Amino acid sequence: MKIPMVDLTEQYHRLKDQIDAGMREAMETAAFILGPNVQAFEKEAADYLGVKHAIGVGSGTDALHLALLSLGIKPGDEVITTPFTFIATAEAIKYVGATPVFVDINPATFNIDLAEVEKAITDKTRAVIPVHLFGQPVDMPALKSLCDTHKLHIVEDCAQSFGAHINGRQTGSFGDLGAFSFFPSKNLGCYGDGGLVSTNSDELAALVKQYRNHGSKIQYHHSLVGYTSRLDELQAVVLRAKLPLIDEFNDNRRRVDSLYRKHLAGTNVQTPAQDGTGKHVFHQYCCLHPERDKILEALRAQDIACAIYYPVPLHKQEVFADDCKNVSLPVTESVMQHCFALPVYPELTEDKIELIASVIKSAL
Ligand SMILES: *Cc1c(COP(=O)(O)O)cnc(C)c1O
Repeated sequence: MKIPMVDLTEQYHRLKDQIDAGMREAMETAAFILGPNVQAFEKEAADYLGVKHAIGVGSGTDALHLALLSLGIKPGDEVITTPFTFIATAEAIKYVGATPVFVDINPATFNIDLAEVEKAITDKTRAVIPVHLFGQPVDMPALKSLCDTHKLHIVEDCAQSFGAHINGRQTGSFGDLGAFSFFPSKNLGCYGDGGLVSTNSDELAALVKQYRNHGSKIQYHHSLVGYTSRLDELQAVVLRAKLPLIDEFNDNRRRVDSLYRKHLAGTNVQTPAQDGTGKHVFHQYCCLHPERDKILEALRAQDIACAIYYPVPLHKQEVFADDCKNVSLPVTESVMQHCFALPVYPELTEDKIELIASVIKSAL
């Protein structure tokens, strides 16, 4: 039985009538740029996230970039973040000319270690980008109080955490701004690239809107150098169909987690640890095992997809060599040698999970 990492077709088949009709209507209406679906989705997403403003942009990477621009982060500034994340988190820091400062992670949750954040603060530090990695919320109340003490901005990287919350308060509503991605395989995914910036600040929201649209507030009047980074109208149709189901999707990802725990019980595979900070939404299902390569080989031999997120930490990437001379982050480096990701998506059935677990058991 072939098992993929994610299966995006089932959600489409379930929502086909609504998505097809919405797309057809959008094409007939021909309001393709910042049209009625984008406007409606921004309102619906802001309501869901419990924030004043949700601004649709071209991608999650752009969301991070525009968020940093709106805060005025510039060359000479330092931005603290985790090395255990997708490259985009740190690329955005480089886009504005600032310097990424990578600090070590918590070995259980894989999220940024707040004690290490505190140690890395200098008089050049302007902001911190916590990443709610694999869908597990960073302890935002603790990070917020640390950043308030040191007068630092926070941009939350919520690309993997749509719907994750801490006591009902959504990720993306704690920092100055939140950056979300709607890349197709994300928990809330569209059918191409898309992203969103969340904020409670009227001033920052106005700047993000300006930056996404050529720096203009009034058409053909430009007061700053902006970009072309608007959420696409057709993508907004897909997102509007899926948003009402996001809690159901995430509940099903948690069901997958409990089934993996059940079927992997008795092995020494370390399933994802939860520190109780908030509700995990399992964007990825990353486990630890000292003999991970043996497990991956056995799964691949049975046509079961598996992956390593991430094989190279950011402080070891060639592109950051100049920023990271002599940087050594032992926890991250150790986790990266032992982590591996199993398939996770809302529709993954128990018989498939049982099969995956049995292949792992016989490999060990
Ligand atoms: C996917 C992802 C991004 C980038 O999102 P895109 O929409 O692909 O640009 C940023 N940060 C993290 C942690 C991600 O997983």
